[in-house]
Amino acid sequence: MELKPSRNSTIRKPKNNDMNKIEHLGIAVKNFDISIPVFEKILNTKCYKIEKVESERVNTAFLKTGESKIELLESADESGVIAKFIEKRGEGLHHIAFDVTDIEAEMKRLVNEGFVLLNELPKKGADNKLVCFLHPKNTNGVLIELCQEIGEQ
Ligand code: ZN
Repeated sequence: MELKPSRNSTIRKPKNNDMNKIEHLGIAVKNFDISIPVFEKILNTKCYKIEKVESERVNTAFLKTGESKIELLESADESGVIAKFIEKRGEGLHHIAFDVTDIEAEMKRLVNEGFVLLNELPKKGADNKLVCFLHPKNTNGVLIELCQEIGEQ
């Protein structure tokens, strides 16, 4: 069988303002005391960082294996975004985060492509990152995070 390029596909030259790689996967959990040990067992590594993101009222816990990171998200109170997410959809995959070199350039590019940003300006997220989320209504229901390491530029 012949492989054909998909419709409208174009070969893009690599640019320095593209999505570089998946930086981490965010997983919504009810309780760190239960879920951190679960993921420590799965990945056979210890959680290396727990951090509260005040603006989102969420606690984050990070694990790393090879190049890949998992961010566990626990609501810091019962009305936080993660509590609401779990109430609606249960525990599980919450978002996919892409590493970008220039978050503002990527935000502009995606707005020009018709996507909706959940925050108009990059904001301080966990793990020393500037972050921005895309509204899942235009992304097949997948919440997408852009993140740029602070101090990278
Ligand atoms: Zn994240």
